[in-house]
Amino acid sequence: MKIYINGEILEQENAKISVLDHGLLYGDGVFEGLRAYCGKVFRLEEHLDRLWDSAKGLLIKIPISRGQMAEAIDKTLVANDISDGYIRLVVTRGIGTLGLDAHLCENPQVIIIAAKLALYPKELYEKGLDIVTAGTVRNNNCALSPQIKSLNYINNIMAKMEGHLAGCAEAMMLNGKGEVAECTGDNIFIVKSGILSTPGTESCILEGITRAAVLEIADELGVPNRQTALTRQDVYSADECFLTGSGAELIPVVKVDGRVIGNGKPGEITKKLHARFHQLTRE
Ligand code: PMP
Repeated sequence: MKIYINGEILEQENAKISVLDHGLLYGDGVFEGLRAYCGKVFRLEEHLDRLWDSAKGLLIKIPISRGQMAEAIDKTLVANDISDGYIRLVVTRGIGTLGLDAHLCENPQVIIIAAKLALYPKELYEKGLDIVTAGTVRNNNCALSPQIKSLNYINNIMAKMEGHLAGCAEAMMLNGKGEVAECTGDNIFIVKSGILSTPGTESCILEGITRAAVLEIADELGVPNRQTALTRQDVYSADECFLTGSGAELIPVVKVDGRVIGNGKPGEITKKLHARFHQLTRE
């Protein structure tokens, strides 16, 4: 695997950054996860917007332009001979002292990793996921905004571990009010009586780029949709449930906390939305 660091493409064993980088010491940095389909990055501008917004929130100055970042992504894909895969962008705070002072840090590091994607196994798309609610509450909008895709993902990692301990590949996270927020690396949607619903930003979610694409597709296909607070009961009593993310695309959920969702099979609206999403990624 060849990795981009600050303008250079390096072999994996030579791709290193300092142990004094605050990205390592404090999780001080930002990242993005993108997908390339047939050599083209899906919704590149939206991902760059989110990366730059995350960096702005943390007062990190990304040392290259958006155009240079886009070129660097292409260069990394070509170096790895990947036309369909996953791309990880990382910008760290840079090398500092052992203290928390971010203003003493120098040279944010720009890292790009491209890999062939290990999606959920195909059978899970056909059968659907079984998920559980995690006890770990999603970061509060007023504390550390879930809109900032920071390198400190411990909140989500703890919830993911709970899912794993319960034998599930994903876990549903609630916000401080006990409402459904999202899953650890995916947004959540339900369908009830033909209406598509997903929590809005006030529910403490990352505004997923796949989520936005799905809402657009729903409009295009005439599926009524809304962004609204959801309770666990809304999810339990839904006809369909699915998750969205750059890695997962759309994956059906058929069981939540032991409750069978709908008829226990991936729903028709879920399938329709996924089929159109699949087309869109290849346009
Ligand atoms: N929520 C969280 C917490 C995530 O980490 C991700 C993945 N980036 C998502 C939702 C889905 O976002 P996207 O569709 O932009 O990949």
